[in-house]
Parts: sequence; structure tokens; C-alpha cells
Amino acid sequence: MHDAEEVPAASDLPAAPSTPPIPTQRTVPGPWSEPPGTPAPSAWSAAPSAWSPDSGARFPDSGAWFPGPGPAIPGQRAPLPGELFPSTHPLPPAPVEVGDLPPLMLAPGTSPLPLPPLRRRGRNLLIGAGLTLAAVLAVGAGAVYVDRAPLALDERAAAAGPEPTAAQPPRTPAEAADAALEAQATALLAGDEQGWLAAVDPGQAKLRARYRSMFRSLRGLGVSHFAYHTSIDPVDAKSATVEVTADAEYCFSTDKCPEEKDNVSDGPPTVTHNLTFKKVGARYVISKLITAKSRDLQEPTPWETGDDLVLLSGKRVTVAGDRRERRYFKQVLAAAEKAAAVNDRFAALVRNPQQKYRVYVAGAEQWKTWYGGITDKWVIGYAMPLNDSGSDVVLNISAVRTDSQVLATTIQHELAHVVTLGGAYRTSGGSGDMWLEEGIAEYIGWYPRSATDSWRRSAVRSLLSSGKRPKSIAARAPGDDAGPGASDAFYGLGHFTADCMARKYGQGALFDFVRLYLRENRDLDPASREAFGKPFATVDKTCMAWIRDKV
Ligand SMILES: [Zn+2]
Repeated sequence: MHDAEEVPAASDLPAAPSTPPIPTQRTVPGPWSEPPGTPAPSAWSAAPSAWSPDSGARFPDSGAWFPGPGPAIPGQRAPLPGELFPSTHPLPPAPVEVGDLPPLMLAPGTSPLPLPPLRRRGRNLLIGAGLTLAAVLAVGAGAVYVDRAPLALDERAAAAGPEPTAAQPPRTPAEAADAALEAQATALLAGDEQGWLAAVDPGQAKLRARYRSMFRSLRGLGVSHFAYHTSIDPVDAKSATVEVTADAEYCFSTDKCPEEKDNVSDGPPTVTHNLTFKKVGARYVISKLITAKSRDLQEPTPWETGDDLVLLSGKRVTVAGDRRERRYFKQVLAAAEKAAAVNDRFAALVRNPQQKYRVYVAGAEQWKTWYGGITDKWVIGYAMPLNDSGSDVVLNISAVRTDSQVLATTIQHELAHVVTLGGAYRTSGGSGDMWLEEGIAEYIGWYPRSATDSWRRSAVRSLLSSGKRPKSIAARAPGDDAGPGASDAFYGLGHFTADCMARKYGQGALFDFVRLYLRENRDLDPASREAFGKPFATVDKTCMAWIRDKV
């Protein structure tokens, strides 16, 4: 136990610092709606409310940000969907040099992951498909929102079937497919498993089992919003089938469910299902489902794979995974509940209180599959942002379960990403923010111990005594070819940086800085002046000296 300042409990937090409006800021209203049927918890935070134009100039070769005059155009931040925030294996000390790093990579210790061209997934495909096929398709006919009262049974039956009645003209196959999906989504939200399965070919046991698994997983996870947006091919005259690209947007009741709005929110997370409908009797039903396996698209999600997702819910955390990993759930939940208690206090400091955390336990198969899979052997856990709705934490159970300290630190680190980054709509920074993203996650991950207790300390020491030590605390992330030792030094340096800010300016100021810079799209220097009362250049110099002294 070191002498770090105590974090005040949520109930006696200091009053929120007043934030005088800055003329260049654009204030936007909170974008997200409540999950239907869920009373809005008063603790939900307001939307990250503003951005300001970039007032810093960046010198890519130096690895540092130098605050300076001259406005830049506020641009859309580098895509979030390709990002994940990994934990890496603890390493034995190894001298490394990180000072002159190659261009920013996505995550130290992982292979560089290609960034998707746009932040939003799924829906981008819809737009693309719509443009390509607009001439021949019934595009957008299925912009179906089903977060309303469920249809009555007879209405649902009518919706699922294309039979003409006196009151209802014959539907086209595209309309029939759309109606079947709308009824399916409605059934999901109503907890009606048979209604959900009614959209699936009754003759295909395996497909129905997969859909049943999806239904149960989504219900178990607390699905609160589910809506398909479709692009539909004309019916294939020969096979009498209809191809449908269905983008399913979803929210869980413990996350936010934001509405999509330019420069405010990307809306709910979305997955894409490529469906084939065929005519069975008088109805069109799903006869084939293809989901993407793509790191770029972050698919498939854990609830889509057809694994029998099982859950164990504690006070603050829900642990989920395949039934084969269920034997580890108690161990993971115990560690996660402790980590959540620590993180809840920091979540209050950055004004991002969490209703509940979600931790997925991945066996070898799921580790290679969920969200496109991880192949880097050094990565043992990651936090996956679900747009600005919330975040999932995924653990490679075989890498964390045998060492209780690794398990505890890893979970506490990943939950730290959830509270410091989750649910934020970010418009600037990109992976240039990693020094603080990982630094604050290490700070929380090891809390209440300090960076001098971290297993990364010796890597930082080696780095700082090398000829290529970074000139700034805002160091650039190491490239994928730099080796795991470089990641260790980078994460460790970030940890020392956060420690320095807390010791020199106070823990409240550190978390104000994190909130302003990582969550509210403030630039580095304005965030520093507001949080610490000093220009960033001063903080940088002070902390580099402090770290050299302490490491
Ligand atoms: Zn991390």
C-alpha cells in the first residue's frame, strides 16, 4: 500500500468543477434515449458535451504534442471500432528502446489492425449496398424500429405471413421478409422465443438452434433495443429466394442506447447478417444466415456465434461465456467484483458511472473468434467499445486464470478502459492518445499500488536510461515490431505519468484531465490548463523530471 491519495467515495465527491463556456465550443444535447421499459437511472451521465478546435500542432517524428497557437480543423477522430485496449502479459525486465518509434500503431503488443474506413460498422455496409443496388432494390424499406409495444400474437402471425386478406393487399417477397424480421425483433424484446423462431425455416434444426442460442444470449445479456435495417434483393425467380442484408442494431439495458446523430453519436452498435429467405408454405422464412468474421467489423459478437452463452451475475458485474468456460466464472466474478468496486469510484470522478460491467470469458475457440479474434500471443484481455453505447471486456481465460495477481490486475485495467473511455463519442486524438488511455488504465489497474510496484517498472527504467528515451510524457505507442518489452515500457511510462499528475496536482485534477481530454474531446493544452492550472508543456516537463527521479 503506498501513500496515494484516497479517491473520495461517490457520495462525497468534490463538486463538479464549473466549466465556463468557451466561445469555440459547440454544445450539444444529450443524445441517448432510455432503453424502453427501463427507468432512467439518475446516475447516467450527460453526453460529452463539447469539442473545441484543435489548438495544438503535432510533430509526428518527435512523438510528442506541442501545444501551440493556430486553430486546426476539428476532424472526426480515428475510428473507434477497430480499436481495442489490450492488456499484455507481464514480462521479465528487458532493456528496450522506445524513443524513436515507428508511426503509431493501434495497440502495443498486438499486430497492427487495419482501421475500418468509418467508425460505424454494419450501417456503412447498408449505405454501400444501398448505393450500389439502389436501382434495383427495395432499399431502406426495412428501416424498422421495433422498440415499441410488441405486436399481439395475431398481429404477429399476420405480419409474418404474406397471405392476402380483404384488409391487407398481397405483400411482395421483400415486404414479407421485412415484416418477418420486424416481427422477430419485436418478439425478442417481448421475450417471446417462439415468436423469434417463427422467422426461421422450421425444417432446419441447426439454424433454429443457432437462433435459439442468439435469443437466449441476448435476453440473458438484457437486450433492451433491437432493430433491423435491411437492404433486399429482388426475389430470385429460379430459386424463389430473397437475399437480405440485415443490419441489426442492439443495446443492452445496462448500457446507454444512443440515437445516431452527426458529430454527437454513432448510435447503437450494429452487426450485419446476410440472410436468405425462402418461401415455406405461404410465408417467407430465414433459410440461411451468414455472419462476418472480421476484425475490422468487430464481428461476430459473443452473442452471435451460436455458442450457448451462459451468465453469472454479481452485484456489479455480469460474467458471460460458453458453458465450457463456466467452471472459471466464480473465480472471474470474484476478481471482477473487487475491480468494479475500485473502478466505480473512478467512474464517478470522470462522470461516467456504470450500471453494470460485462466481462466475457473466452476459451481458446472464442478468443480466436469473438470480435474477429486475437492472434497476438501477448494480448491477454481487451476492452471493446460498442460505439458510444458501452464497452465489453474480454479475457483470454487460459492466460489469466493461473495467476491471481495477473487476473486481478488485468480485469481492473480493462474495466478502467470501460469507465474512462466507454460511452464517449470522441472526435479527436486517435491512437495518439494511447499514452494516457493506457497510463490511466494502468493507474487504476494497479490501484492502490503505484507505478513503482508495477512489474513494468524495470522496463521504464531501462527505457529512460537508454539513448532513445522519450522527450515527452505524451509518448508515441510502440510499433508492432518493437516487441513486447517496448509495450511494457510504454504502458509503464504511462502509469508513472498518471502517478505524477496525481501526486503533483491531486487525484481530482488527474481525473478532470482524463475526462476533458479522453471523454470530452478537449485538446491537450486546454485540458491541462483547466485541470491542472498549467500549460501542458509545464506538466510535461515537471512529470518527466519526476519520473526520472522515481523510476
Ligand atoms: Zn489497456
